[in-house]
Amino acid sequence: MTPVETFKGKRVALFGLGGSGLATARALVAGGAQVAAWDDGEAGRLKAVAQGVALEDLAAADWSGFDALVLSPGVPLTHPEPHWTVLAAKAAGVEIIGDVELFCREREARAGGSPFIAITGTNGKSTTTALIAHILREAGRDVQLGGNIGVPILDLEPPSDERIHVIECSSFQIDLAPSLAPTIGVLINITPDHIDRHGTIENYAAIKERLVAAAEVALVGVDDACCHAIGARLVEAETPERRVVPVSGKRALDWGFYVEDRSVYFREQGHPPEEAELIGSLEGARALRGAHNAQNAAFAAAAAWECGLDDDEILSGLLSFPGLPHRMEEVRRIERALFVNDSKATNADAAEKALVSFTDIYWILGGRSKEGGVEPLRPHFSRIRKAYLIGEAADDFARTLEGALPFEHCGTLEAATTRAALDALAEGAPEPVVLLSPACASYDQFANFEARGDAFRGVVEGLPAVIAARK
Ligand code: ADP
Repeated sequence: MTPVETFKGKRVALFGLGGSGLATARALVAGGAQVAAWDDGEAGRLKAVAQGVALEDLAAADWSGFDALVLSPGVPLTHPEPHWTVLAAKAAGVEIIGDVELFCREREARAGGSPFIAITGTNGKSTTTALIAHILREAGRDVQLGGNIGVPILDLEPPSDERIHVIECSSFQIDLAPSLAPTIGVLINITPDHIDRHGTIENYAAIKERLVAAAEVALVGVDDACCHAIGARLVEAETPERRVVPVSGKRALDWGFYVEDRSVYFREQGHPPEEAELIGSLEGARALRGAHNAQNAAFAAAAAWECGLDDDEILSGLLSFPGLPHRMEEVRRIERALFVNDSKATNADAAEKALVSFTDIYWILGGRSKEGGVEPLRPHFSRIRKAYLIGEAADDFARTLEGALPFEHCGTLEAATTRAALDALAEGAPEPVVLLSPACASYDQFANFEARGDAFRGVVEGLPAVIAARK
């Protein structure tokens, strides 16, 4: 844990008691702050009580007594309208911050300038963050990994000169962290997916730009127009203390880090193309299939290089990355068939990344559908041998698949996985892939996408017995 001592003796209102809210409460209390915590939901309040956190109904609070309001992710700041705590604190002139800000102030007070890699983007944040941490750890560095992925930032060990914090930042966290100034800032991509929380794409992009604009080294993607423009702006403002390095996952650059034909390169500024340095090929990197992962790999290589790792260390980390659970995760092989858990693919866009990465696919899809359904995936139907429909979206998806591919209604994930496995092993494809890439949210049948992926894994582990019983 990183005790927050910068609020010692002060009164802090804490709103939102999920995982990061509770971690924040513990860190503030450990640092000597007086915390008044609240959550509109009873579940959060009960957890807080169980951890000895003092509750106070902030709806009735006298805000003049507070030095800060710390918000948890998900509490609306501006869009569609500010939460009442935000309005009340603002009206009283109380500063509103998040857990990343508390960490940054602590870092400044304890070990200003300690290695701090902050990662943001619309897609690929978790993969890139985990990949950077993996490469650095494999090279023997002391790494703390967390933030918007896994462990809340204030649950991590405190900053020190030798320890590298590798932190995934959501837009929400950046927005509430005015002191965020990482040693290495990573901006992977910006697409207009998540603008519901931030009102406009301009606002969303401006928040993400702040993370790299304040970094000592800014690694900025050039593969989308929005990041490209941000990179160009930062280059204009570049100084020896604030460098910008472009990164591409799909084309050779005049300089910077890039992937071309599945190989990772670094080309120094002012050097001719033939002097581009080959870091290595991603061919053997099983957890980094697909064009989108080439982008993530290019960023991870760049970040590791900026930390002083050599080419061999970077390549060895890329190749040994085990991948993240639920994202094209190879669960196991049974005979010739590969079972892949891509439960994180909750929309057609994400499912497309999995469909283009395999052939001879036995595709399990469905759940609670999102707008547009699976119609956008039609160009990839030729890769699919058969589809197995589950959940609420089954009838709707069946209308799209009708006449285009063989499919069946399976109802549950368990039935679908078993049917798909039996078909995959009975038919003649040399390397069939049973793929859970649902293109849907999970909430109709599961608590979340993780529970859905875990359930798939469970069924797959039991399959050898089912298959043996059929023989
Ligand atoms: P995030 O943390 O930003 O949600 P993840 O690393 O968890 O991203 O990946 C989630 C999904 O997004 C993956 O399953 C994949 O389909 C897609 N994805 C991953 N990396 C990228 C990328 N660089 N560009 C576009 N899509 C990506």
